[in-house]
Amino acid sequence: MTSDLASCLWHQTCQENPAFPELSGEAEADLVVIGGGYTGCSAALKAAELGASVRLVEADETGSGGSGRNVGLANAGLWLPPEDINAALGAGTGSRLSQLLAGAPAMVFSLIAKNAIQCEPENNGTLHCAHAPSGLKDLQRRHAQLTAIGAPVELLSREDAIQRTGSEAVHGALFDPRAGTIQPLAYVRGLARAAAAGGAQLHERSPATAISREGSSWHVTTPKGSIRAKHLIMATNAYARDITGYSAPQVIPVHYFQAATDPLPGPLLDRILPNKEGCWDTALVMSSWRLDQSGRLVIGGMGALNHFGSALHRSWLPRKLAVLYPELKDARLRSHWHGRIAMTSEHLPKILDLQGGYACFGYSGRGIGPGTLFGAAMAEALLTGDSNCLPVPPAQGHSLPFAGLRSAYYETGATLTHLISDR
Ligand SMILES: Cc1cc2nc3c(=O)[nH]c(=O)nc-3n(C[C@H](O)[C@H](O)[C@H](O)COP(=O)(O)OP(=O)(O)OC[C@H]3O[C@@H](n4cnc5c(N)ncnc54)[C@H](O)[C@@H]3O)c2cc1C
Repeated sequence: MTSDLASCLWHQTCQENPAFPELSGEAEADLVVIGGGYTGCSAALKAAELGASVRLVEADETGSGGSGRNVGLANAGLWLPPEDINAALGAGTGSRLSQLLAGAPAMVFSLIAKNAIQCEPENNGTLHCAHAPSGLKDLQRRHAQLTAIGAPVELLSREDAIQRTGSEAVHGALFDPRAGTIQPLAYVRGLARAAAAGGAQLHERSPATAISREGSSWHVTTPKGSIRAKHLIMATNAYARDITGYSAPQVIPVHYFQAATDPLPGPLLDRILPNKEGCWDTALVMSSWRLDQSGRLVIGGMGALNHFGSALHRSWLPRKLAVLYPELKDARLRSHWHGRIAMTSEHLPKILDLQGGYACFGYSGRGIGPGTLFGAAMAEALLTGDSNCLPVPPAQGHSLPFAGLRSAYYETGATLTHLISDR
């Protein structure tokens, strides 16, 4: 485990702990998957279900990227509302993507049930909360667009939102009953366990260091072994490490940090999120909060904890907590950690055609459902030869100029906001 993960709550409380051997020696497979997050593990699981031989190599441990660090909100759809998706992708592709992602939480929760994954699933919905009266406009717009495509979302008044969250700081909310919360690391480790039980061979501490195309095969090299395979899936996303012979698609890295209270006492849990919905807000510099199964309140905001301004993020968190829940103003926050989100300029995920393989990246903060869906679809498309099952058409190229500058813009904005604001 990388040292920064020791302080991550999900790593401290994970009930799923499969372990996989390092790759050693030469191996062959129908499909080789690089990266052990939702995308890679879902691809390996689907490939095993289809009866293919599949090997997955993970540089560190399963879930050491975004999949083991996130908030655990299993949402339906993407960050962008449906009309914005249509504007970016065209109405046909956009509508199809929205429809597929509408079913993504159901896919996640049914995989959890089918494989008995011990990941604290709560399929009670999510609340997108207005952080100020101005936030209601955004929620109304989302509500109109979502109901127009048949989504069962509900716009809650301020009074209802206060009752559901237990916080007087919210000004209304958009409730999505399809969504829910999970323990994100346990979910990805459970997917990995299920893939292995189905016959996939997974390898941890096995970074791909070089990739080459030899005839119609891929050749993937790790420090102690190699794999030759007909098909390749690159699922390294925001955590891509350098690989000779492969240039990872550029994304805008955006950081998000979290911490957790101690388990809250029963009387508080009767008031704070009594239905255990997961929450995030409409602020430009967004925040999120949710309960875990032990009754800890997990709260987070945009920003990284590894630079000179990180102290501002850390000191903002208890202030934000006190704004949301004044009764928690003296609560101790523990287990501070952060993670890297892969954004694209359109805030939409992409599949890149590698001619005999795919790379998938850029869920832009919405990877639990989409990663599960895209990973399985890529495996199916490669192994059956039918690319119609892909949720978006694969792109032939990708460029994202000034990714570093854009990332600095987000981090500076978050740091300044946390300096001057409690919200
Ligand atoms: C703090 C945070 C909060 C978020 N909150 C949410 C949320 O609430 N809901 C939601 O839906 N999404 C959320 N997301 C987004 C979601 O976590 C990601 O989109 C998702 O985890 C991406 O999964 P992945 O499998 O594509 O990539 P990852 O989980 O990042 O996995 C990539 C893996 O590739 C491995 N790797 C890299 N290079 C190599 C190599 N050379 N060889 C082998 N392995 C390699 C890495 O070690 C890593 O394990 C959040 C993300 C973050 C960071």
